[in-house]
Amino acid sequence: SRISADDLAALNQQLDYINEHDEHGDVATGDQEINESLIDEVFDNLESNQTAAEVEFEASEAQPGSVLQNQLRGVLKRLLKEINKYNMPLCYRRGDFFDRPPHPVFALRCSLEPTQLYWRKVFIWLPNLLPGCPSTFKCTCGKPLIRNGFNDPIARRVRSMPADYFLLTNRFLCPPRRQNNPGCGRSFQGTDPHILGQLPLFVQRAFPAYITARAAVSKLVMWQMLNTFSSRLGPAKFSGLVSEIQYRTHAETELMYISAANHYRQFGVKQFSAFDDPHGYAGSPPSTPYLKGLFTDYTNANRIYVDRYIASLPLTVASGDHTFAFLKHTGGLKGEPIFTAAYTLMNEHEEVRGHCFVPSKSMTVLQEMFQGVKQGLQDANNLPTQLFYTDSPQRT
Ligand SMILES: [Zn+2]
Repeated sequence: SRISADDLAALNQQLDYINEHDEHGDVATGDQEINESLIDEVFDNLESNQTAAEVEFEASEAQPGSVLQNQLRGVLKRLLKEINKYNMPLCYRRGDFFDRPPHPVFALRCSLEPTQLYWRKVFIWLPNLLPGCPSTFKCTCGKPLIRNGFNDPIARRVRSMPADYFLLTNRFLCPPRRQNNPGCGRSFQGTDPHILGQLPLFVQRAFPAYITARAAVSKLVMWQMLNTFSSRLGPAKFSGLVSEIQYRTHAETELMYISAANHYRQFGVKQFSAFDDPHGYAGSPPSTPYLKGLFTDYTNANRIYVDRYIASLPLTVASGDHTFAFLKHTGGLKGEPIFTAAYTLMNEHEEVRGHCFVPSKSMTVLQEMFQGVKQGLQDANNLPTQLFYTDSPQRT
């Protein structure tokens, strides 16, 4: 079909807009190399990132006999007493999820012993004691679960800022030896999505962390990662940032300790622990591979939402082009690459509206994608595409 006079005028107007606003001339000439190093940085080696995360996760758990393990033992013991007496942990009664160690200022008033200054906050997540919880949680098989004690290690470390904290939860069991109505034997952590899903939404949303089998970060850190990984501040710099803040927190605490000793005229006090002494302060900031592994897991888990969102976007003005740079990150068959390029469709807001890997630069292989996009625009009540920019027009 022929282009109408109106369309031509609109097209000319858009070309003028590009000429006037393209200060580096890179849109108009199309020869500017796009820096894809950010993608390189996140997706360089998925498997080794995940192995690194696993090793690091284990190393960061409270070591036997360490200050942190003793803290957690003490917390659990006290928690059980509190539950016996008040039917809930005292932190819940105060309106807080965190069982908090005393602030250094108050801890040092009582004693110039550094141990308590190494303690971390402990987030107490006991689903059966939370507001709005069901009278019994159900197994995936439909039968009622029973509570099944606590964990060993007692709590998981959650990477966060300005310092890590611990996440303490209980376990549930579908008891296979129950007299009447024996269960299937499956057991759950209180943090399991299946358990969380049985709480009211407003309580679910209070869960503080993203956890995988091998890693855990606070929601705050994950949200910061989502913001920074998509810009110029990639994983390595972000890991540096977390580390810097954790070291700084340690240094500030040490300064309070020494200065308190001075104030209270206590001489010859114990030396403050080094940041990374596993039996003392036990600092362990997340490494770059750890964060990358976690980010990849998060992205995989949320992909369906991202895909749905993309499918709802308009494509009134489209621009499509092939790209080759990150193909080196895709797998092949017996060493032979399957795809030679990727094709990306952007809309008028520079949002990606469609993306696929292609075996050749021929437009015929893209037919299915374009049909999907057309259907998606209809389904989401968007206008059909009015204008399409491409650098290699082809007849099909
Ligand atoms: Zn069951």
